[in-house]
Amino acid sequence: MGKDLLDKFQGCLLGVAIGDTLGHPFEGKLRSQIYSYFEDFNEFLQKNKDIFRTYTDDTQLTLHTAEALIKGDGFKLEYLIDEYINWLDDPPIGPGYGCISSIRNLKLGIPWKEAASNSGGNGTTMRIAPIGLYYSKDFKALKTNAIKSSLITHSHPAASAGAVVIANAIAFLLDKNPESGFSIENFFQIITNSIANSQNEIWEEFVKNLNKLKSNLNRPIESGLIKFSQAGVKSPYFIEQYLGQAFVHPYTISTVICAIFIFLNKLTSFKECIYELATAGGDSDTVGAIGGSLAGSYFGIQNIPPDLIKLVKNYKKILKLSEDLYKSFKLKY
Ligand SMILES: [Mg+2]
Repeated sequence: MGKDLLDKFQGCLLGVAIGDTLGHPFEGKLRSQIYSYFEDFNEFLQKNKDIFRTYTDDTQLTLHTAEALIKGDGFKLEYLIDEYINWLDDPPIGPGYGCISSIRNLKLGIPWKEAASNSGGNGTTMRIAPIGLYYSKDFKALKTNAIKSSLITHSHPAASAGAVVIANAIAFLLDKNPESGFSIENFFQIITNSIANSQNEIWEEFVKNLNKLKSNLNRPIESGLIKFSQAGVKSPYFIEQYLGQAFVHPYTISTVICAIFIFLNKLTSFKECIYELATAGGDSDTVGAIGGSLAGSYFGIQNIPPDLIKLVKNYKKILKLSEDLYKSFKLKY
């Protein structure tokens, strides 16, 4: 089992990086526009590898989160803050406003409670994977630390709820075997219960959207994405021109619902799953990164085609970092 779990740790973090790398060229584009470029995505990818040359802020911040857990032997707020400040020197690739503004504040020495933005954007869920891995055997610590990690930069409850949901989904998928599958019912039970009965209006809205998703899983991908692309988004953040189209809004509820929807629709293989995620439309790189963390946790690195691993910039470094995170986790649990 030990070796299998290392396989899952590596699959998860590489999953983030692959989804982010494949989705990056399609960020901000409608799904219909993306699918006008090719008939077969795999063929398109083989012929155009040079346009998929980097990941973005999603992977960068995920790697910094992993570094902070390794250096701190677990979750320590000050290590996380230091690592996020280090990210400013990477330098950031395609950062969201919520992340960059708050982390610049942290660098100025402003305490995190004041530094955080009120953004409900998906910027904290996209970097949560290492916390889902590290605390996969301790659901209480997983929830507390997922929330804390989110609050440093985003005070909005949607952001922390998304982080909790995805961290729980990762923990659930780690010990599942893609050859035998898993119960969709149990999956929803775990993720929904992780944020249920909170007395918080936005968390309750998140739960309602998860329930809605559960009863809409049979929809074709395009139709589901049209339905959930702007889930939970409030005025004035609604993008009117994209209503009725597949264009995932960078709000946490919409992104998380769409990523889970695609993941559950494409449990056939890592490759088929990640191709659909990265071409979702709208915030495609982040749907790719978040959905990629789920697909990677489920399928493990042994089921990820080597050419997709090698497509990722610094993939060896990510493999090594996943191994270090795994070793640190093993010492603790
Ligand atoms: Mg990004």
